Amino acid sequence: MNKVRAKKHLGQHFLKDETIAKKIADTLILKSYSKVLEIGPGMGMLTKYLLEKDVDTYVIEIDSESVEYLNANYLKLSNRIIEEDFLKYNINEVFNEEQFAIIGNFPYNISTQIVFKTLEMKAQIPEFSGMFQKEVAARICAKHGSKTYGILSVLAQAFYHAEYLFTVPPTVFNPPPKVDSGVMRLTRKEDYSLPCSEKLFYRVVKTGFQQRRKTLRNSLKSFNLSDELRVLDVFNMRPEQLSVQEFIDLTCIIEKDIANH
Ligand code: SAH
Repeated sequence: MNKVRAKKHLGQHFLKDETIAKKIADTLILKSYSKVLEIGPGMGMLTKYLLEKDVDTYVIEIDSESVEYLNANYLKLSNRIIEEDFLKYNINEVFNEEQFAIIGNFPYNISTQIVFKTLEMKAQIPEFSGMFQKEVAARICAKHGSKTYGILSVLAQAFYHAEYLFTVPPTVFNPPPKVDSGVMRLTRKEDYSLPCSEKLFYRVVKTGFQQRRKTLRNSLKSFNLSDELRVLDVFNMRPEQLSVQEFIDLTCIIEKDIANH
């Protein structure tokens, strides 16, 4: 069967390096689940190595030409190919609220949306690993004080331990992307529940980073905080100076303040 034509609008950059495909498949290390979902298998370069593992591999792929290729070449996948858009599909039609891992050489045009959807489903996802454009992988794993630290870093690291694993050059893809790629892993924290409202936490983080250069006192004005609260030192800080734990603590005190007014 013919190879799949790479379609730009679907972010298709197919891996051609077997060693790297295997190395990515090996980034899954937990044993707390029996199912893995690969997002965007394309022609199955990574899938091949997942199928060698002791887990049930499911794949979700939006491109019908790739699905046809997978059906023809990976009989072992049989009825575990889901032809859907990962961002729109309710995966529990297949997974029934079970725990599963996510992996992929992800479509870079929807990278951050994939991470946000994973965070929404964190109760089911103990482990998430794979490849993004390097800058996004680095951003997810960035620590406070660094320039790349932002919304994605704080939200992901509130619930997961994040590790940047290795960098991959454009030359191992067909067609090569314009940027370097980075492989990272998220491992869910043992206790990933927040001591404050999650909705408020998202709001504080997103609003705080809307204006990176301003102090939190300025950027969080719309929360109408009390004067007693606004004099606290933490409000003199800029968002990138706050650790993940400090963002959580800040949300807790804001939550109390809102409740008291
Ligand atoms: N994993 C393959 C292909 C990576 S390219 C490899 O390493 O060679 C990214 C893949 O994601 C493409 O196959 C593309 O069709 C698929 N894709 C793009 N958007 C998607 C979406 N919303 N849902 C599921 N798959 C998607």
